[in-house]
Amino acid sequence: MPDINSYVGHPNLANTHDKLLNLDEGIQLNLDSICELVLPIFDAQFCRLFCCYDEKMFLVSQKGEMNQAIQQQVISKKELVALAHSSKSLNKLAHITHPYDESLLRHISPIVLPSGLVFGYLEFYRGEGANLTPKEQAIITVLQRDIGNHLLQHKHLIAAAKSRELHLLISKHNRDWIFVKDTDFRIVYANEAFLNAYPQAASCISQQDHSSPVYQSVTTAASLEQDKIALHQGQSVTTEDITAADGSIMVYETVKRRFEDGGGVPYILCIRRDITERESLIRQLKEANNDLDDFTKIASHDLKAPLDAIRRLLGWIEEDCQHILPEESLENLRLVVSRANRMQSLLEDLLTFAKIGREDRTVTRIELAKLISDLNPLLDLPEGFEINVAPAELVVPSVPFKTVMLNLVGNAVKHNDKDMGKVVVECKVSEFCYEISISDNGPGIEEKYFERIFQLFQTLKSRDELEASGIGLAVVKKYVNQFGGRIEIASDGVNGTTFTVFWPKPK
Ligand code: ADP
Repeated sequence: MPDINSYVGHPNLANTHDKLLNLDEGIQLNLDSICELVLPIFDAQFCRLFCCYDEKMFLVSQKGEMNQAIQQQVISKKELVALAHSSKSLNKLAHITHPYDESLLRHISPIVLPSGLVFGYLEFYRGEGANLTPKEQAIITVLQRDIGNHLLQHKHLIAAAKSRELHLLISKHNRDWIFVKDTDFRIVYANEAFLNAYPQAASCISQQDHSSPVYQSVTTAASLEQDKIALHQGQSVTTEDITAADGSIMVYETVKRRFEDGGGVPYILCIRRDITERESLIRQLKEANNDLDDFTKIASHDLKAPLDAIRRLLGWIEEDCQHILPEESLENLRLVVSRANRMQSLLEDLLTFAKIGREDRTVTRIELAKLISDLNPLLDLPEGFEINVAPAELVVPSVPFKTVMLNLVGNAVKHNDKDMGKVVVECKVSEFCYEISISDNGPGIEEKYFERIFQLFQTLKSRDELEASGIGLAVVKKYVNQFGGRIEIASDGVNGTTFTVFWPKPK
């Protein structure tokens, strides 16, 4: 509900020693005239208007002559509110009349604004016995409404001034160039950033001297072309490379949009943004992606081929020398073969990781339980291992989501140390995402490792203890992040682990 401030602004209370509230000139004049009008209409000796501000009553206007004793007669906010609500409906406003002394009758009319806010009251005194006629009562109702309308208008003015100030402030401190052109493509407004860039043209623009050659130098044929597109088609967007004074290349994006002012007159709003940094980052990112592509190719062809050859040769040596070499050397040879195998699987995992983000993003409806049971053959489940999946339907990109589930459920099985291992998969559907939790009764993960396990090639046990590449969770995190989700982990380091994936629902 709007408060009094939105109708009267923020009056300076420091100057209210005699409880007189000074409002803006326009509204003050209007309220003074109403008080002045009351005197002849009602043959009143004086009239006052009070505003209930900050829980106290303040005098807003007074006309006519009044004695000291009457000046002290001010009703409290409580009395005012009771009076305002005493009428059956707020549209038919309350009004009380009571004798003040033998010679005067006091009339009080609460001012209730259309929002229901009790603003204050209008009061006048006139000769005893002069009760209000029905016609006078009707006039009072009109005056009450009139005061309300003036206040409402003032409220709109205050709001408009505030919003204008805010827009000017935003425009002034914006580093983008913001300027407005009329339908003759002349600049009628330019913000500080624009004027700073064209110091010579600044005065022509502020004085609207469009014929000056300095002003003409600001507008180019290409820019005029874009103005025409914006005016006739509604919008134009251009990106241009400009060589700066120091020889550096700056990249600017200019968006021009047609708009109409309150009176329906069309203009073009132009916003020019320096996107040099963004463009250079995009270029760097593209280069980095190309490097990654090159690396992927090198890794797949140039590293895999010699590694294959090494593994083959080692196999032959092992076969040929089985009966010649001592057992110790044969054992070492087997170790070399196993390291070569590990290297090959690391290489393959690394390629999988590098390729993330290039797959099809189309979503399909999947049933969680069916997806997990399809993964079973890949999980190498020990005898008696239990996987329970709560029923849920999700709409997700199939391959990335499957890979995430395979890694998380796979870990829950692979790292489980119990005789009767168990995994529970559940899914909660919230407004924007699916929250899929994978809980196991395995050894748990200590909190100090929560970050490390998501890094590439990080395992908590040595590879000789458990053959693992340490890439699974890095793949999971990369996929989840790529699709705008996140992953959380919970474990006390002893009694199992829960991974929760927050996967965004399709829009
Ligand atoms: P990998 O499983 O191939 O080692 P991950 O990146 O998937 O690689 O996991 C990293 C490490 O986090 C694992 O080596 C393991 O120590 C630990 N870990 C992951 N999931 C679990 C789990 N469910 N229970 C216990 N430890 C886990």
